Amino acid sequence: MNVLIINCGSSSVKIDILDSKSGVRQFKARVQRVGTAECVLEIGDEEIFLPDADHASVVQAILKKAPTDLIKAVGHRVVHGGAQFSSPVRIDAVVEQAIESLIPLAPLHNPANLAGIQAAKKSLSDLPHIAVFDTAFHQTLPRRAFTYAIPIEFQKKHGFRRYGFHGTSHHWVARRAADFLKEDLRDLRIITCHLGNGCSITAVEYGRSIETSMGMSPLEGLVMGTRSGDIDPGVLLELQRREGMSVDELDQLLNKKSGLLGLSKISNDMRDIDQGASEGDEACRLAIRVFCHRLRKYIGAYAAVMGGVDAIVFTAGIGENSAWVREQVSQRLGFLGVRLDEDLNREAKVDLEHPVTVISTDHSRTRLLVVATDEAHAIARDTEDLVNEKDKVNNSRGIPVAVSARHIHLTQEAVEILFGEGHQLTPLKELSQPEQFACEERLTIIGPKRSIPKVRILGPVRGKCQVEISRTDEYTLGIDAPVRASGDVANSPGITLEGPNGKLTLEQGVICAQRHIHMRPEDAEHFGVKHKDIVEITMDTDGRDLIFGDVLVRVSEKYSLEMHIDTDEANAAEISQGDISGMLVRTGKLATLRKRCLENL
Ligand code: ADP
Repeated sequence: MNVLIINCGSSSVKIDILDSKSGVRQFKARVQRVGTAECVLEIGDEEIFLPDADHASVVQAILKKAPTDLIKAVGHRVVHGGAQFSSPVRIDAVVEQAIESLIPLAPLHNPANLAGIQAAKKSLSDLPHIAVFDTAFHQTLPRRAFTYAIPIEFQKKHGFRRYGFHGTSHHWVARRAADFLKEDLRDLRIITCHLGNGCSITAVEYGRSIETSMGMSPLEGLVMGTRSGDIDPGVLLELQRREGMSVDELDQLLNKKSGLLGLSKISNDMRDIDQGASEGDEACRLAIRVFCHRLRKYIGAYAAVMGGVDAIVFTAGIGENSAWVREQVSQRLGFLGVRLDEDLNREAKVDLEHPVTVISTDHSRTRLLVVATDEAHAIARDTEDLVNEKDKVNNSRGIPVAVSARHIHLTQEAVEILFGEGHQLTPLKELSQPEQFACEERLTIIGPKRSIPKVRILGPVRGKCQVEISRTDEYTLGIDAPVRASGDVANSPGITLEGPNGKLTLEQGVICAQRHIHMRPEDAEHFGVKHKDIVEITMDTDGRDLIFGDVLVRVSEKYSLEMHIDTDEANAAEISQGDISGMLVRTGKLATLRKRCLENL
């Protein structure tokens, strides 16, 4: 599908027409210094001066020259989607209003994005317009990662929390890296380093962003071309006190005069600083050292956050081109299993045709990759996906819903410790998933705070012990269990189980089950989804409809079609529990599957 991509920056406009599959460009226009007397539009070799033109007139001027009859949809890059947008959306009046309401969080960017949207909708009113947000990929950050440690009322009042940016690029290069490694992104822990004029780093854990260095604004984190990145807030207080600096002056200092430019005094461009450093300029040497040290520090931190790392990706202008920076950053990462191949690093070259190359040795446990980013291509793909989405999801069948109460899976060894040597579990009732049964046996689970008696065991025995509880149970027991798919118990908290024959303390195994749908391959085909997809589910209940996000699709020949939620979720959806004390019960309710799509905002 040919898609027109509009990227309105604070003082620039980039417009491309490209094929969403191959990324091949049919048209490319670039405008610099929008709103000034020197505003100039470049299309190929042609230069057109547009003195004092604003974003809207620049976009319209370009669209007059573009072969718009080729295109099927328009994708708009929007910088700030706040906490509202976690995926691309079709742009309607409500979405435009939401982008406008986020202007206080992105005062330079969202107005430009909105102007581009409105101008393009006027000229191309028959086509679908899709917004793709820089912040969306980071909406999966857990609360502990996005919360600033200042009184929480400021977050509530002003939305002061970490959002993260460059999300489209981080997601794109993580996917390219997984493809290159011939692995599923959902099985990998990747650290992506986007090093352009703006720089940020992201921890992509099993396909989801769980930490990123930019925060409420793009100022936080790494050292950048002209931005400081992390700085002790005390310095800002002292600059106000000692230098009498105003808010606007501090804004200029931190956004425009700091970073590589502030340290080197000569340039914000790494090429100039590289050159300066090789000629012995001390300030340039220090600028590179500070840049690389900060980056290496973040890589170590993000490896710790994910409990390990499988690949580290370098991308954007500096990441793709500076072998020297990559080398400096990779030093002392041996403890993470990183081994740089210096020859491969020096020779590394990526472009849109060959977007990925490896720069680590064959023995490197953690792979080092250079990946060419292509945000316009990523936006074109997202746009196509959303345009086609309606046709892909076939909602002509409801999905039966079952409520799963707290329960325990045991190994045979654990059964014998708790119930006596040679004990076999006694089936009480068959469950809807083939070969699964609720057992007569029950146990007390003992947490640091309180205990819960009579918790049902589900059979047959398994290879690992696992205790699945709800959030409310966590409060009762006094533990903090992660939301996980069944079987994924690594690094989860432990608990003590008590049976008639004694106690057993598990080192790990307590999880809050990720809400999920079991389906057979033919169901997956019917709904247009794949194993491990994350979808949304609409619960049509009496009077209090509910949409569940983050629902995991699990596909196997062994399953029968059914969505599983826990008792807290059933209560929220006002699904009556009936007799579910300790087992899984079909509710007679049907859920409707939707792809992740916020069309109905
Ligand atoms: P953005 O898209 O954020 O404007 P880019 O991804 O184009 O930025 O990256 C721009 C930066 O990349 C430049 O400021 C420059 O520092 C750096 N860069 C580009 N080429 C090289 C190179 N060969 N060596 C070192 N740095 C480079």
